[in-house]
Amino acid sequence: MRILMFGPPGSGKGTYASRLSVKLNAPHISTGDLVRDEIKKQTDLGKRISDYSSRGQLVPDKTICELLQKRISQPDCKSGFILDGFPRTIPQAQELEKISSTDLIINLDVPDDVIIERLSTRLTCKSCGAIYNERSLKPRTEGKCDKCHGQLYKREDDQPKVIQERLNVYRNQTQPLLEYYQKTGQIRNVSNKEAGLPPDKVVQEILKIIENES
Ligand code: ADP
Repeated sequence: MRILMFGPPGSGKGTYASRLSVKLNAPHISTGDLVRDEIKKQTDLGKRISDYSSRGQLVPDKTICELLQKRISQPDCKSGFILDGFPRTIPQAQELEKISSTDLIINLDVPDDVIIERLSTRLTCKSCGAIYNERSLKPRTEGKCDKCHGQLYKREDDQPKVIQERLNVYRNQTQPLLEYYQKTGQIRNVSNKEAGLPPDKVVQEILKIIENES
């Protein structure tokens, strides 16, 4: 199944997508991780896009579409994938249509105060990108990833000013996509109003939706 995880920054797209990936045995493709990987490796592309990411702005459509195309053409994506953070603009959605069909769009609906609380307490693994939270999703050992023992850090774009910019970018450039996708009949809304709701509860709800579709 080809699933799109849709929702504002901090709505849990990455957290739920990585858990769904294990349950459904389908690759989790996070364009944010692809971007951070290029920056970490200091590739030419990484150097060109690091400013956008640290300011909370979108990487140009052409660049992100090239990264996505490269990843999605790998053999492991043939029978399905869970896309997290793509598309974020209408041109990106049009580009995706040229590359692949989609089956289901999970729209995570989360209020701004919950987003701000989550992002400002979020911890990310430097090595594998796994997501934790200082309050609601603590690692077993402080500062260390449960999965790979990598170092946990606060993302540069999880600072209050950048969080606000990312929310603005989401409202102005990404949210209009919901209207665009309405005609497909593929959108399923998952509402998540509590900051500390255990991720597995939400994942169960999403799995039920997927079961009903297949
Ligand atoms: P978020 O928590 O905001 O959803 P992501 O990890 O998905 O964060 O993305 C981090 C950054 O990577 C974005 O702020 C943006 O600069 C860049 N990025 C990721 N996906 C895209 C995309 N589809 N289009 C443009 N830029 C993107």
